[in-house]
Amino acid sequence: MAIITCPVCKKQGMTAAINPEGADKSVVYCKICGDFEISGTADLVLSTKPANPRLSYSLRKRFENGATNRINSTNIEEIINSVKFPETIPEKVNEIISFLYKNQSSGGYAISDKEIYIFGINDDELELVMKYAEGKGLLTIAPKFASGGGLFSLEANGIDLAEELLKRNIVGSQAFVAMWFDESMENAFSQGIEPALKETGYKVIRIDKKEFIGDINEEIQKEIKQSKILIADYTGNRGGVYYEAGFAKALNKPVVSCCKEDILKELHFDVKHLNQIVWTSPEDLKNKLIKRINGCGLNID
Ligand SMILES: [Zn+2]
Repeated sequence: MAIITCPVCKKQGMTAAINPEGADKSVVYCKICGDFEISGTADLVLSTKPANPRLSYSLRKRFENGATNRINSTNIEEIINSVKFPETIPEKVNEIISFLYKNQSSGGYAISDKEIYIFGINDDELELVMKYAEGKGLLTIAPKFASGGGLFSLEANGIDLAEELLKRNIVGSQAFVAMWFDESMENAFSQGIEPALKETGYKVIRIDKKEFIGDINEEIQKEIKQSKILIADYTGNRGGVYYEAGFAKALNKPVVSCCKEDILKELHFDVKHLNQIVWTSPEDLKNKLIKRINGCGLNID
C-alpha cells in the first residue's frame, strides 16, 4: 500500500494499491470519495487538475450505494451525470444535516479538510451554506478553526429535519417498472408486478402513472436514479424497456428481467441470455417475482 494524495479530491495521506498485478491502474481508498479504481491515463489527467468536488461527490454516492467505481479517461462525465448533485443551498444543507445526524457525537462534529465535498459543497461556499443553516436554527457553529473547517452541532430543528429527511428518503425503497403500456398488460401489472413489489416492501413507480412537468426522458432518468431496482418486462418487445434497463445497468442498479412465455422467442439477442422470469399468468408473475426478489436479497426490510 502506498500513501498518496487522492487524485480526485486531493485529500492527503490516503492509501492506494498502485499497479496491482502489473496493470496500468490504481485502486484508491479515499476517506472522502470512497474506494475506486482509476486507470493510469485518468490518474495522470486528474493529477494535473485542481480538486473535482462533483466527481468526488458522485464517486462517494455510488460507493455508498454499493457500486464499483472504475474511472478511465473517457467516463468521468458519465460518472458525474449518473448521480443527482445538490445544486441549491437548501439541498446542500439537507446533506449536511443528514450527515451530522448520523455521525455527530454529543460534542458536535468537526468537519475536516475536503469533507465538505461529501455534501456537494465547494470550498468557497462553506461559509454561506453554514450561515444559512445556522440562520434557520438547524445547527450551531463553534468559533472557526484555523484550518477553515468548523465544529458543528445540530439543534432541535436540525434533528427534526434529519428525521423528516430519513422518512422522505425514497432511494432505498423505490422500484422502477419498465414495461409495455398496453391494455393487454394491465393485469400483468396490477395483479402481478405491483402486488409483488408491494409485498417485498417497495414503492412502485411507473412513469405513465406519475404526473410530471417537462421532458419525459429526463423524468425517466431521474426516477431510475432514485430507484433501488428496476423491473424490466420485455413482453411486447418495446424499445423503451431495453433503453431503461440499459440505463439502470449502467448505474449498477439490479435489473430483474421478465417476459411472458409465449413471446420469449421474439426477444432481442442481447437479453435472451439473461436469467429471465418466464411467466404464464399475472399470478405466476407475482409469485416468481416475489421469489426472485427475496432470493436475491433485494427485499426491503
Ligand atoms: Zn478522494
